[in-house]
Amino acid sequence: MDIPRIFNITESAHRIHNPITPEKLATLGAALRLKPGARVLDLGSGSGEMLCTWARDHGITGTGIDMSALFTRQARRRAEDLGVAHQVSFIHDDAAGHVSDRKVDVAACVGATWIAGGVDGTVELLARSLRPGGIILIGEPYWRRLPPTDEVARGCLAGGIADFLPLPERLASFGHLGYDVVEMVLADQDGWDRYEAAKWLTMRRWLDANPDDELAGEVRARLTTEPVRYAAHTRDYLGWGVFALMKR
Ligand code: SAH
Repeated sequence: MDIPRIFNITESAHRIHNPITPEKLATLGAALRLKPGARVLDLGSGSGEMLCTWARDHGITGTGIDMSALFTRQARRRAEDLGVAHQVSFIHDDAAGHVSDRKVDVAACVGATWIAGGVDGTVELLARSLRPGGIILIGEPYWRRLPPTDEVARGCLAGGIADFLPLPERLASFGHLGYDVVEMVLADQDGWDRYEAAKWLTMRRWLDANPDDELAGEVRARLTTEPVRYAAHTRDYLGWGVFALMKR
């Protein structure tokens, strides 16, 4: 079981698989006023940067679940490197339907809400692992600028305009689900550059090392087109944020 191999190639050098920077991830950890020993569940934990750095900086404990074997290995190595391997564990698995045995203080899904069919389903899924009064974290894109057409939205790699909401509507949607938005940290275009542009050098190096791989053609095509596509679409139109929610 794994995610499509193309992502394990293009994001193999990423510590954070989203437009949030290490600084903003630290800001978010501080903003949540995490207490030592707080339990955090992270569905789609990627290479584990959030859990590992929060374990180091705030003494949290946590479990991450991710379907990429590569990212999960990287997360375990990061935990060793930061000296927090006794506080956090990473499970290689499909997170769909995952509910923790013991209730957690923070239940997160940062940039992987397809795991439960979208934002609403993911909030519902995370709520099943959450202690009363706990915090849900959702990381999700929103439209900074509404695309004029579905074609422009597809240029942002969305299925269409309807895939995402503008920020006020995104925030209102959490209210409709019965949640207060109690914090948020938004990415900016520099953060988007770190996430997207970092893939280009990774792709180039991978191509140089793997010219005969069956995915070489696809990676070559992406490297050729991605910088312009990204600059013309995603960078301009798409915002991204992590939203902290508490049940009303
Ligand atoms: N939250 C991490 C990773 C976000 S990228 C970060 O911010 O760095 C999305 C992640 O979801 C990837 O690591 C991918 O491997 C994982 N993923 C995709 N489908 C999944 C599934 N069904 N179950 C668990 N993880 C999944």
